[in-house]
Amino acid sequence: MGINSIVIIGAGPSGLYLARELSKFVNVVIFEEDREVGVPPHCTGLVNLDSLRVLGVSPPIISTYRYVRIVDLEGNGLTFDFGRRVIAMVDRPGLEQYLANELGSSSLMLGERVVHVDSSTVKTKSRQLSYELTVIAEGAGGELSRKLIPWTPNYVYGVQTDTRSYSTSNLMPRDDDEIVVVFDKKLSENYFAWIVPIDHNEFRIGIADTSNTWVKFTELLRLVGAEYRKLFGGKIIIGGSPEHVVWRNVAVIGDAAGFVKPMTGGGIIMGMLSARILSESLYETIKAGLSIGDALSIYDMVYRKYIRGKLKALGVASTILHMLLNKSLGESLRLMSGLSIRVDDYDNHVDAILTAALRRPWAFIKAVAAIIQELSETQYPIHKLLRSLIE
Ligand SMILES: Cc1cc2nc3c(=O)[nH]c(=O)nc-3n(C[C@H](O)[C@H](O)[C@H](O)COP(=O)(O)OP(=O)(O)OC[C@H]3O[C@@H](n4cnc5c(N)ncnc54)[C@H](O)[C@@H]3O)c2cc1C
Repeated sequence: MGINSIVIIGAGPSGLYLARELSKFVNVVIFEEDREVGVPPHCTGLVNLDSLRVLGVSPPIISTYRYVRIVDLEGNGLTFDFGRRVIAMVDRPGLEQYLANELGSSSLMLGERVVHVDSSTVKTKSRQLSYELTVIAEGAGGELSRKLIPWTPNYVYGVQTDTRSYSTSNLMPRDDDEIVVVFDKKLSENYFAWIVPIDHNEFRIGIADTSNTWVKFTELLRLVGAEYRKLFGGKIIIGGSPEHVVWRNVAVIGDAAGFVKPMTGGGIIMGMLSARILSESLYETIKAGLSIGDALSIYDMVYRKYIRGKLKALGVASTILHMLLNKSLGESLRLMSGLSIRVDDYDNHVDAILTAALRRPWAFIKAVAAIIQELSETQYPIHKLLRSLIE
């Protein structure tokens, strides 16, 4: 491969991580529509510190946390204890700047939006270029990638602010190592709200939902006695996954390919993981004297064989939990209220739920029965969900 044979569209965590990994053996060109990486920020920045280490990334960290307490507006709540401060709030513009500083002699073209991609060319407003491989890492919007690989993501809209509060309400973190997640249909109908400590009386407070997010956000700030400050947020993908992540000599990574944890919308680690799979496929095939096409086939095969099924199953679980359940969700939280559950892996939601189940099995069975009862009463085509799960 020669210089300029690979182009990456989008300098978010997925595109920049891929560029950093590829820069170790080939130069790449990255197009980013914004004039500065990481700006404007949109994300809360919560990740698993262990996953960052595995990926070999050490960005600036704002704070770290050990507990996640899930509460409702009635005062019910249960706490997940990860045993140590394993959750980190990364500085989001800082993560992008850190990765951008590690690009070696690859080129980062800022302020240049890509307007068209096909199998042979990439067009920006000012030029048209040919590349052997194009990687789309354009984020949740998906304008370019979904023209090539159509699929329909489920998403919610998230909005948040960094603000101050002196409230002592049950909704506020009890210490600087605790994140509060508010699961209550009266606040967010189809997702949840979060309150994350940053510093003394400073919190990142946000909410996501399918509609009227601004109104609900105002209500959340009122409930915790916090004022509006500069707002930031955007689309959060929470399910759906494309059939393929490769089209001819174009690969898609990150949010644009649905690499997120559907239960929480977390996509920083997943996006970098997709980039890692692609970069390793390229490295190994080039080393073996094979073609870019071979590397893309491996990337697509790994996605289809090992990742897509899990994303689909978690996407179904997310749809059930966030979209379909109403009264049984509150009932489940009430039944499990007061528990403190020791969990090892922040990213393993299934393990967290099973650990909770073992702590209070009878309450858990009652909660599951209430959920099944409610699901059987919904108008939603449940057989579709079951088919996805079985697939
Ligand atoms: C409110 C909110 C809270 C979130 N909280 C968390 C969290 O706590 N933890 C977590 O893991 N995830 C969180 N996420 C999700 C996380 O932000 C995304 O999963 C992550 O940013 C995906 O990275 P990416 O590189 O794939 O896409 P992005 O970060 O969206 O980057 C895409 C880049 O491509 C650029 N671009 C787009 N189109 C073009 C084009 N045509 N030409 C050139 N450049 C283009 C964009 O400007 C952008 O810089 C949150 C998201 C939101 C909205």
